[in-house]
Order: sequence, then C-alpha cells, then structure tokens
Amino acid sequence: MSEPLNIAVVGGGPGGYAAAFLAADLGMSVTLIDPEVNPGGVCLYRGCIPSKALLHVAKLIEESEQAKNWGIEFAAPKIDLARLRSWKEGVVKKLTGGLGILSKQRKVTYIQGRAGFENSTTLQVIKADGSTQSLAFDRIILATGSRPAIVPALKLDTPRMMDSTGALNLEDIPGTLLVVGGGYIGLELGSVYAALGTRVTVVEMLPGLLPGADRDLVLPLHKRLEKMFEGILLNTTVAAVKDEGSGIRATLKVQDGNAQEKVFDRVLVSVGRKPNSEISGLDKTQVKVGAKGFIEVNKQLQTADPSIYAIGDVVGEPMLAHKAMHEGRTAVEAIAGHKVAFEPNAIPAVVFTDPEIAWCGLTETQAQNENREIKVAKFPWAASGRAVTLDRPEGMTKLLIDPRTERVLGVGIVGVGAGEMIAEGVLAIEMAALAHDVAHTIHPHPTLSETVMESAEVFFGTSTDIYRPKRG
Ligand SMILES: Cc1cc2nc3c(=O)[nH]c(=O)nc-3n(C[C@H](O)[C@H](O)[C@H](O)COP(=O)(O)OP(=O)(O)OC[C@H]3O[C@@H](n4cnc5c(N)ncnc54)[C@H](O)[C@@H]3O)c2cc1C
Repeated sequence: MSEPLNIAVVGGGPGGYAAAFLAADLGMSVTLIDPEVNPGGVCLYRGCIPSKALLHVAKLIEESEQAKNWGIEFAAPKIDLARLRSWKEGVVKKLTGGLGILSKQRKVTYIQGRAGFENSTTLQVIKADGSTQSLAFDRIILATGSRPAIVPALKLDTPRMMDSTGALNLEDIPGTLLVVGGGYIGLELGSVYAALGTRVTVVEMLPGLLPGADRDLVLPLHKRLEKMFEGILLNTTVAAVKDEGSGIRATLKVQDGNAQEKVFDRVLVSVGRKPNSEISGLDKTQVKVGAKGFIEVNKQLQTADPSIYAIGDVVGEPMLAHKAMHEGRTAVEAIAGHKVAFEPNAIPAVVFTDPEIAWCGLTETQAQNENREIKVAKFPWAASGRAVTLDRPEGMTKLLIDPRTERVLGVGIVGVGAGEMIAEGVLAIEMAALAHDVAHTIHPHPTLSETVMESAEVFFGTSTDIYRPKRG
C-alpha cells in the first residue's frame, strides 16, 4: 500500500476546516494550522456566528415592541451587557470547541500558529509558544481568509473607532454610532446596536444601501431601517474623523459638495474586506496574486504552483462562508484525483437584517447590465396568509425566468426568514427547474415558502391568491 497523501491546510476558517476534515475522511494525513486555539476562523470567532447570535437578540427586542400592535405590552428591556456578551461568547466557544473535538476525532494534527513558505512544499510554522518548525507536505491548501479593509482617512488610535471585530466585542451601548458603509456587515451590526438603544447613523457613498442587491428587494428593508436608525445618508462619504476625547467628530460630505460635522460616541468602519494573501514566503513559490490581492486559482482551486491550492475569501468574491466550504471540498476532491470543478450555478447571498434579504442566481440588475431578456414574476407577501399572521406583510418573493425555456434563472426574497427560504431557489436553479416544476411542487400551508410556488404561478397567471391578468 502506498503512503497516504500528506497535506497541510493553512487557516482554520469554514474553508480550511471543511477541507481538512474531508481530506482526513478521504484517508489523507492532514495538518491544520491556525492562530486560534480551535478551528473556526473569522466566521465562527468574529463573523457569521457572533453577529447572528446578537441579531437574534435584536429581533427579539424589536418583536417585543411590535407586540403592542397585538394587544401585548412588555416592559422596556433591561440589558445586562456582561451576560449578553458571555452568552454570545458561549455560542462561539461551543461551536469552535466542537470543531476542536471533530478535528481530534479525525486525527487531524492541529497546530496553533502561523505558517509561511520555505518553498512550494515546505512550510515554516511559528507556533503559539514562539517555537518554529519546518514541515514538508505533498500538497498545501491556503485558506487564510480576509480582514476588514482600512480607510487611511478614518484611522484613529482610539477604541471609539471600531471595525466589525470591535463592534462584535460590544464593549458598551454607545449613545450614538456612526456606521461607515451601507453593506451587509454595517447594516447587520447597526441593527444590533439600534435594537440595544443606540442612535445609529449610516453613511453610504453610493445612491442606495446594499449595492449589488436588486432595488426592489432593498426597499422594504430601507423603509424599516429608516424607522430604526436616526439617519441613513446616501451619496455621502466620511471625509475626516477627529478624536475629541469625549467623542469622534466626523465630517460627512454629500456628493453635491455640502458637508456637515457631527460628533458620535463610536464609529464602525465597515467598508469591505481585504484578502489575506500577504503570506510570508509566498514569493518563494509560483503562486500568483491578482491586482485586487486575491490568489489566482483554476476551477479545481489549484494555484499557478501545482502543489498549492487556495480556497475561500483569499481567492475572491463572494466572500461568504458557504462558498469557502464548497471550494474546500472541491480542492480536496481534486487532490484526491476526483474529476471535479467548482462551477456553481447559484451561490446564495443573505443579509440577516430584519427583514432579511436573500437572492441567488441571476439578479435583475445583472440581467439589465447584460441585456438579457427575462420575465420577472413577483408575489407580494401581503397576499401570504403566513406573512399576515406574523404581521410582516412587507415582504416579496420573485423569480427571474427565461421567457423562452421557462427555466428559473434567479430568485430574490425580502422578508422575515428569507435566508432560510433561499435554499429552495438554489436547489431549483441547480436542478435546472422550470417555472412549472416550482408551481407544481406542493408547499405546506400556511408557510412563507408558499410564496416561491406562488411566484411561479404568477408567471403563468394562475395564482389564485392574487389577481394578475394572464400572460399573452
Ligand atoms: C461581521 C461578519 C459577519 C459575517 N457574516 C457572514 C454570514 O452571515 N454568512 C456568510 O456566509 N459569511 C459571513 N461573513 C463572511 C465569512 O466570515 C467569511 O466569508 C468566511 O469566514 C471565509 O472563510 P475562510 O475559510 O476563507 O477564511 P476565514 O474564516 O477568514 O479564516 C481564515 C483563518 O486563517 C487564519 N490565517 C491567516 N493567515 C494565516 C497564516 N499565515 N497561517 C495560519 N493561519 C492563518 C486566520 O487567522 C483565520 O483564522 C461575515 C464576516 C464578518 C466579518
């Protein structure tokens, strides 16, 4: 019997641990290297998981407010910040600890440390205790992830200036918070602080929140956030910030040239993320890094250096955990000699605000930009029994359909629970479903998932829950 392949995975985020665990399951000898005590990466320690734990709390607070409309009044919430923090940290610990156990069960060698290259197949690992070790491998998978982008004009050495990691630490509940950037991270974390009682102002340099998402999906969220936030300033940039001791004075510049100054207790800068491709010794390999800092890979996730693969945020957009995990699987299967390629038809995107926004496959904006002929079938949630029972009728589900083949090309949803529902859209697109497949799939009643089926019926003019004239 030949020796098992000896592989190293650098970075223990969702891409890295998924790759390491699958490689072990396929019989490879695996070493996983990450600075944290357990695998988890950004997603578990300072991204997806802590943010969703806090958003759950935010939703509860908001819902208890809304309950007034239903004849139930709760007293104003008393927030024990230390306990809230420790609950959130407990969630993170439970999940990362679980990954530590799974890693041991699979006999993955986990090294707490940082890796750099000596050459294409040899890593130098600086361990957490300061010692260094040279280790040789048959293949190396880079899963080093990303970090918050920094704007030089907004760099101040004060804890009042935060990135997403600082905001998740929840040091206090500031009276006022300026969120720089109207992307999903800024809106999610802004929603958490607003629910806890902070007066939040969001500044976005583009004309709309969540650039990249279709405008009709963003509209219901924008309307709700207008009530939750003190201000949403579009076409506006933060030109300068100044530490005044008792607060941060920010100069907010509108596109028409007007500027105003405002003082905030804290500022969250959430203007995007940068790939961690500045890996020590990478220049001693043949790996190529593109103009935006992403490591270049082919459809098997192999870099220009045949023994090195790369996955996750460090290889490009969309920088999302589920994309990283699937790339990890593909890279390992490719190393194992399987005939595989990473070429999904749909990668879902979810904004976990309230309401949530989720989409997959083709967007309307993309179709317009590419001059593609599509038919859009929309089902308003005001006609959904389930949405009305939840007192959340502002949602909408839409299907983007090829008018010639009637194939579902894209799905967009805004409304509570959209993030759970979008998986049906991904499955429809991956299975090349036609609109009638979706329309003829019996959905349980009363659920929000029915709105996906109803959208397909809208396409045919056969939805009995709303009135739309027939096609043609
Ligand atoms: C606030 C926030 C919320 C988010 N919410 C979501 C969400 O809801 N859903 C979603 O899909 N995505 C979300 N993301 C994005 C998600 O976290 C990332 O897409 C995902 O973590 C990328 O996984 P990865 O495996 O590529 O790398 P990462 O998770 O970034 O992990 C990389 C790991 O590699 C380590 N590393 C770096 N260099 C080295 C080295 N030289 N040696 C050893 N280790 C190294 C890093 O320390 C890190 O632990 C969120 C991100 C943030 C910041």
